[in-house]
Amino acid sequence: GHAGADGQVTQVGQRFANIIIDISHESVDRTFQYRVPEALMGRLRAGQQVYIPFGAGNSRRKGYVVELTDRAEYDESKLKEIAGVVPGSVSAGSQLIWLAWWMKERYGSTMNQALKTVLPVKQKVKEAPRRQIRCLLAGEELDRALAEAERKHFKARIRLLSALKEEPVIPYEAAVNQLNLTMAALKPMEEAGVIAVEVIARYRNPLEEMRRLAEGTQNFSPGRVALNQGQQQIVDAISGEYDLGVRGTYLIHGITGSGKTEVYMELIAHVLAQGRQVIVLIPEISLTWQTVMRFYRRFGDRVSVMNSRLSAGERYDQYERARTGNIDIMIGPRSALFAPFERLGLIIIDEEHENAYKSELSPRYHAREVALERAGMNGASLVLGSATPSLESYTRALKGEYKLFTLKQRAKADSALARAEIVDLRRELQEGNKSIFSRRLQELMEDRLQKGQQIMLFINRRGYANFVSCRSCGEALRCPHCDVTLTLHRNGQMMCHYCGYTVPQPKICPSCGSPYIAPFGTGTQKIEEMTRQMFPDARVLRMDLDTTSKKGGHQEILSSFARGEADILIGTQMIVKGHDFSRVTLVGALAADLSLYAPDYRCGEQTFALLTQAAGRAGRAGEEGAMVIQTYQPDHYAVVTASGQDYGAFYEQEMAFRRLLGYPPAVGLLIIQLSSADEALLESGAERLAGQIRAMCGEGVSGALEVPVQFIGPVNATVYKVNDIYRKILYIKHENYDILIQIRKNSEEFIKGAEELKNISAQYDLT
Ligand code: ADP
Ligand code: ZN
Ligand code: ZN
Repeated sequence: GHAGADGQVTQVGQRFANIIIDISHESVDRTFQYRVPEALMGRLRAGQQVYIPFGAGNSRRKGYVVELTDRAEYDESKLKEIAGVVPGSVSAGSQLIWLAWWMKERYGSTMNQALKTVLPVKQKVKEAPRRQIRCLLAGEELDRALAEAERKHFKARIRLLSALKEEPVIPYEAAVNQLNLTMAALKPMEEAGVIAVEVIARYRNPLEEMRRLAEGTQNFSPGRVALNQGQQQIVDAISGEYDLGVRGTYLIHGITGSGKTEVYMELIAHVLAQGRQVIVLIPEISLTWQTVMRFYRRFGDRVSVMNSRLSAGERYDQYERARTGNIDIMIGPRSALFAPFERLGLIIIDEEHENAYKSELSPRYHAREVALERAGMNGASLVLGSATPSLESYTRALKGEYKLFTLKQRAKADSALARAEIVDLRRELQEGNKSIFSRRLQELMEDRLQKGQQIMLFINRRGYANFVSCRSCGEALRCPHCDVTLTLHRNGQMMCHYCGYTVPQPKICPSCGSPYIAPFGTGTQKIEEMTRQMFPDARVLRMDLDTTSKKGGHQEILSSFARGEADILIGTQMIVKGHDFSRVTLVGALAADLSLYAPDYRCGEQTFALLTQAAGRAGRAGEEGAMVIQTYQPDHYAVVTASGQDYGAFYEQEMAFRRLLGYPPAVGLLIIQLSSADEALLESGAERLAGQIRAMCGEGVSGALEVPVQFIGPVNATVYKVNDIYRKILYIKHENYDILIQIRKNSEEFIKGAEELKNISAQYDLT
């Protein structure tokens, strides 16, 4: 751009507009290019609705501008001109369409996939209102009415009253279908006051269920609190900027229980008072219902939740309530980001480090990045919060891209952080303890049970059982090139998912020669059995995928535990995320290093976050809490720094590791996954694309980007074959995101144009 007289950069790329015509149609993938008339230059923006001449007859249609450009895709003289701007504000729909376009460009997907992501409820699900028939008579009155009907031979009336005698309320459909009644037969009875036809409220507030479950839990903490100084400073800083019209991105790094949620609520109140709306993202609603309830208690019916377990109709209702301005706060997982608010003023992402914010479906977006974009678009501020910020966010905060705030103290005066002890499982084995409970953990468990206090035990199940480790020395089998664990495949081969390195599964440990080498795996069910054996009098609850599959399963178990109906809660990592159980004074991580073996460069970060979070669960209300971290790797920096709740030290070491091996956020990483049912075709196609990308980047090749990228692949995907579809992966690393986006676009073009890649589909993932 060039600097204008007022010092502002005037926008370039305004001469042509790419426009989509009909968002409810398959042709959504297609844009049409128009010339921007002189009068509109500099006044159009993406997402805006415009009038355009369309088709042979040049009939006037409405379209959405999705992109402004200076590059004509066709002969300039053949392009038609935009007729005018549709008056009125830029609707939420337009904004979301622009966001979809941005996501398509950024992550590589079809416009259709992107639109389906941002407009999740496409067709109106108009459910007919459900009705029921209620008998207004009882006892003798009812008998008299029935007798009268019999005398008069009113057959329909006899059928209905007999049914109502059994069951005073029956569904309307049952009356119609099973009792064969018509509206004409029902009407006189209604008018005579014999029955009432009632409409059952179709819209069930999704919070109702949670509220019911929350009753009786002592964790239902009091209403408003007076903010402490640290909290108040954050609120003042952010709302002060807000009042000045500054829309920033803020990262609140606050230890568990430091009062971040209270800060969010104050900020929300401030923004609501100015007539603006708020989106609050939480990782998973079923695991964080306590937090949701706090919002509900503070803001009442202005709050709604989006939740994958809502029915299509319920979800549509929430969407409509947001669109029409019936609610001001939308809480939910990453999809809540697309709430159609017209006056969005603030987006909050709680636990911003959580993996759940990354979509695994195309477009593979990260909610944090999309939130930043939407905030910019809507003139909203973005607040990220975590006890263990993602490396990405913390790095940006250190660079000054985000404003960083820190809360180092627990908000409640009487709650200290748990003391965490590391127990070396190798030593336990050496000294003859083969149990899954170390002697120290057993001792503390007995103590807590005796005092009537509660205990949480968890394992991190992610990635377990497909890596191989040594029970004597604790080493897991790792790739010599990539510093990730090798994954055991069914055919007995161990493989690196980053470079393809493969070895057969060894019989003895390559580090110490011990024969005690085996796939790791202890399920929660087995832990429950062992716990019951060792502590036969303890009441034990287990929470995992098996026990939570039914609707509301999570809440049932968690609130039962919160009510004190069990002494020990056993589960996967999900049990330590975000709950506030005031009677828990001991948390045990049974195998803390399980998550360190996951074939993922982020496993250190995830382990640190999990252990830090878990320590935050113990001793929240006065009682001193303890945490026992059992591990085969007591010296691993993620374990050591987590036990000391030392985020700074962890960050330094982890960043050094990322820089050394070239992982995000030190560099950008583009992953291209190719898949096809034809294995041979896939193999040759993947090689073709790899060659193309090498040429594309290669130095000295004319037309090449001339950027040295790190390129790995093609290698087989973690799960090579799924549903008879084979999958191969290419990894491309570079410091500059824009280069990776360009490589992705070039690859898309290449795949579209190359005959031998016709039956291969590509998915892109950019980190
Ligand atoms: P975080 O979101 O950082 O985990 P919360 O906002 O949930 O922290 O606060 C932890 C606990 O401390 C909650 O029970 C909350 O009600 C309480 N709390 C927060 N701020 C204050 C305060 N200023 N004074 C007293 N209690 C507070
Ligand atoms: Zn060994
Ligand atoms: Zn490798």
